[in-house]
Amino acid sequence: MEKFFTKRILLLFLSFTPIQGFSWGFFAHEHINRLAVFTLPAEMAGFYKEHLEFITEAAVLPDKRRYVVKNEGPRHFIDLDIYEDSSGITLPQDWKRAVEKYGEDSLMKHGVLPWHLYLMKYELTQAFKNKNPDAILKLSAEIGHYLGDAHVPLHTCSNYNGQFTNQHGIHGLWESRLPELYFESFDFFVGPAMYISNTREEFWSVVFRSQTMVDSVLKFEKSLSEEFSSDLKYSFEERGGTMVRTYSKDFCNTYHLMLAGQVERQMRASVKMIGNIWYTCWVDAGQPDLKDLMKHHLKEEDINEIKQHDDKKDGCVH
Ligand SMILES: [Zn+2]
Repeated sequence: MEKFFTKRILLLFLSFTPIQGFSWGFFAHEHINRLAVFTLPAEMAGFYKEHLEFITEAAVLPDKRRYVVKNEGPRHFIDLDIYEDSSGITLPQDWKRAVEKYGEDSLMKHGVLPWHLYLMKYELTQAFKNKNPDAILKLSAEIGHYLGDAHVPLHTCSNYNGQFTNQHGIHGLWESRLPELYFESFDFFVGPAMYISNTREEFWSVVFRSQTMVDSVLKFEKSLSEEFSSDLKYSFEERGGTMVRTYSKDFCNTYHLMLAGQVERQMRASVKMIGNIWYTCWVDAGQPDLKDLMKHHLKEEDINEIKQHDDKKDGCVH
């Protein structure tokens, strides 16, 4: 009974939570996955294009699932700033060694994103080896999600929504509001997917690169907030029939200019990296022929999983 009420209260709370993303907003995740398909070589592109809709829509499954799957949350971030050095020299890239050093509870508390990426890379390679079309599509879509998250600077620090610096809402500003406003002006020609010989090292490089951007993400918003009074910083816009308070276009334009293309660069890098990883898994599996998988119909349960969580809003705990 108590459980039932907790669930009801949770659902009520969620339905009143304002729209805000805690990983690239749904908009950006879907576009990133979709665009990555166009980086693939012909031997892969046919199969992925045949299931373009699924690859696009399932890009947000890991976020939707965060409400129902235990241990899902920590896969989306890593608080690199809580570790004693941020150079990556003392932080074990190997999961087992990391557990020995810090303990699993602590690792889960501060996020496991790069370790989880490496596990998924292994699973996707296995799916290609087994020529299992359902697993290939689902794992491709989902690793696309986590790779996207790894490119979001605020997914690599503990002050992920400016909660320690009175900048609440900055997470959604950077990864949802800015991509939605400027997506049309971004250049997504990223060239063909390329093979990555050391994927684990690359995953770690991505999160450390993202972390170097945290300072400007926070500092620029802070200094702009001193220039913009609250009524100029925020405005009201209609979304789905209700008026929601959001960052004003003037504020966003100025912030976006100060960031000098950072959001676009990170979106482009996400697209490129996703294509690279899909391609690398396929090569590591021995380049299986995907032609005979082309006409495969996805399992009902996979399609339904996307619809099942449709009531879940774009927002959750870090
Ligand atoms: Zn996420």
